[in-house]
Amino acid sequence: MTTHKENIVKKINDTGLIQDEPLIFEQGGEGRRGYSLPKWDVQKVEAKQVIPSHLLRKELTGFPQLSEVDVVRHFTRLSQWNYGVDNGFYPLGSCTMKYNPKVNEEVAKIRGFAQVHPYSPQEICQGILKLMYELENYLAEITGMDDVTLQPAAGAHGELAGLMIIRAYFRDRGERRSKILVPDTAHGTNCSSSTVASFRMVGIKSNEKGILSAKQVDEQMDDQVAAIMVTNPNTLGLFEEELGEIARIVHQRGGFVYCDGANLNALMGIVKLGDLGVDMVHLNLHKTFSTPHGGGGPGAGPLAVKKELTPFLPVPVIEKAGETYRFNFDLPKSIGKIRAFYGNFGVMLKSYAYILSMGAEGLKKVSEMAVLNANYLMKRLKDYYHLPYDWPCMHECVFTDRNQEKYHINTLDIAKRLIDYGFHPPTVYFPLVVKGALMMEPTETESKEGLDRFIETMITIAKEAEENPDLLREAPSRVKVRRLDEVLAARKPKLRWTGKNPNNQIPNRNSPSPPLNLRGGWGAL
Ligand SMILES: *Cc1c(COP(=O)(O)O)cnc(C)c1O
Repeated sequence: MTTHKENIVKKINDTGLIQDEPLIFEQGGEGRRGYSLPKWDVQKVEAKQVIPSHLLRKELTGFPQLSEVDVVRHFTRLSQWNYGVDNGFYPLGSCTMKYNPKVNEEVAKIRGFAQVHPYSPQEICQGILKLMYELENYLAEITGMDDVTLQPAAGAHGELAGLMIIRAYFRDRGERRSKILVPDTAHGTNCSSSTVASFRMVGIKSNEKGILSAKQVDEQMDDQVAAIMVTNPNTLGLFEEELGEIARIVHQRGGFVYCDGANLNALMGIVKLGDLGVDMVHLNLHKTFSTPHGGGGPGAGPLAVKKELTPFLPVPVIEKAGETYRFNFDLPKSIGKIRAFYGNFGVMLKSYAYILSMGAEGLKKVSEMAVLNANYLMKRLKDYYHLPYDWPCMHECVFTDRNQEKYHINTLDIAKRLIDYGFHPPTVYFPLVVKGALMMEPTETESKEGLDRFIETMITIAKEAEENPDLLREAPSRVKVRRLDEVLAARKPKLRWTGKNPNNQIPNRNSPSPPLNLRGGWGAL
């Protein structure tokens, strides 16, 4: 019998055909068409007869001409190069890349929902308003807060809305507070949101246990601090045990406690953040509540607040009178509108369906399983990878490359090698407080067998680092695209087709791909 490890190696050695895929601009030929329709039975009109000449293009160089099957194959092949939760384990820490049940997508596609126009009169959209109203209530219940706005389109947008509300609150009282305390374990968005909301961000250090200490907060809290932003569990995957005491200190000096609730997948049904003294919290529906993300699709970052802050919520708010629901635009202290119409309704639908299908018990189980899976992963890997905070974690855990340093192997090498084995790498070099961080979030939707496959692969890679480190340094070697110059790709992206393919270079798995210009004119995509 072959062992699992031999199987993995075998699989890599006989990776099947990988077709090279020319750009669509390099395919096809003059006169090919992507459709075949019956002959015209109306009179043909020349473009120049109906379009002013200055708006007419003289020529369209390089425009691809392809048949239908060419186009279908091109895009189908490209889609197969992609990696997503639907084709494999995706332990990207802080992102909650869990599997999202397809039934929720189906619900979002129901015609009555998908085709409703945002300008439809409220009287004929009562079902929609009711659904949004109930979703707000569910989210308030889950977080232990009083009111919710569904308007923000993403987590960072929820943060910005929250900080604008805090600013409006102090203005309303004729008070000026300029500072927001943000711990070093925060998500980068916390720093930018506080700056965009015209506060000054003041950093605050986490302690040796990887969490915030009430003592530290006490020292930095003064009457210029409008709020503290705490991510709980934080980006080390640790529960902020002193949050209750921190909230007491902050409140005592007139500040607010903002909780970044993007990591709610660890807490549902277990902890109500409102009970810990949190005044406002945003949730990432596209992480915890069944909306796939990572490909740039819409998300939603609802914001839940305590009563004191309700008057400042963005308009419109949804109200219920008897059995009738309505949008109320008349909130004199509101921060105004922060999103076109009412937010990303499709995402709300999926979350609503997800919450109903899971039920209270189901949501609690989600969080319990998410935490159990992360602890299983942590426990099984800690003999191989350095674990800077060696105690139970919440929904994610953070390792480093310290054990591999002596072989001159770093986090990036480990992450790239995982690609050779068919896994999406974990989050790397984040959070910044951990040098060479490898941040893993398995989520609740991974089976034990799935986790074991990943764990055994990580162990294999740890052994390779010791015995054959070049395998890691050259990784990934079994995929179409080798190691890219990521800095250049981020700093100098070339997004425009230049029509040139100077060296006609086709990357294949025996020759390292050129750093950026994979196939001619397109740069980093
Ligand atoms: C993902 C995340 C955010 C940002 O959410 P977006 O929807 O990407 O704007 C903020 N904070 C934490 C802790 C996160 O994990």
